Amino acid sequence: MKLNERGLLVVLSGPSGVGKGTVRKALFKTEKQKFTFSVSMTTREKRPGEVEGKDYYFVSREYFEKKIQEGGFLEYTYFCGNYYGTPLDKVEEALNSGKELILEIEVNGCRQVKEKMMDAVTIFIVPPTKETLYERLKKRGTESQYQIEERIKKANSEFGLAYQYDYIVVNDTVDNAADRIKAIIRAEHAKTQRSIYKYYEIVGDLENDNQ
Ligand code: 5GP
Repeated sequence: MKLNERGLLVVLSGPSGVGKGTVRKALFKTEKQKFTFSVSMTTREKRPGEVEGKDYYFVSREYFEKKIQEGGFLEYTYFCGNYYGTPLDKVEEALNSGKELILEIEVNGCRQVKEKMMDAVTIFIVPPTKETLYERLKKRGTESQYQIEERIKKANSEFGLAYQYDYIVVNDTVDNAADRIKAIIRAEHAKTQRSIYKYYEIVGDLENDNQ
């Protein structure tokens, strides 16, 4: 029996445009074997370059609403005119495999996850300055002016919710942010409350060996 067999559920959250996706990709580059990404389902239009089943499962509004009725999401939200949700089926499977499951979702969804899974590790990613966020959203060039303004409005309300998270990570550079998240995950695994039961099983075995 080893300590820490079950993977962590790690929620990366924060305003749109803060660089969650880029930081997540940097994490996966070095720790690919240890991490699984929870691919969300959405009713939003596919952006150029996005891949079905890799970035998102792109579905119709009817399909999404049917899945809500069936209880098929760990969490879901309606964000700037579209549904986004975490399909439930893959979650337990991934955690039982011992890999860390990374969710990349907005603040509403994060709150729902924490309510259902108290041991989820929630990380709020923030830009070094508010201006950086606006510049990134504009530079990305994937949204119309109206959509950018919607997302900025949303970001302003999301900034106030950072206190609900377990950790705040500044995305000053992608590598720095990824390193901070790796350190958080390592520390979380070492927490006594997470490993004490398995530890006692090991100690119990040792006691028997000594008799
Ligand atoms: P985007 O349209 O830019 O891909 O995503 C918009 C927002 O929805 C981002 O903040 C993104 O992290 C969030 N998001 C993506 N997937 C999910 C999901 O499954 N659940 C929730 N609650 N938010 C999501």
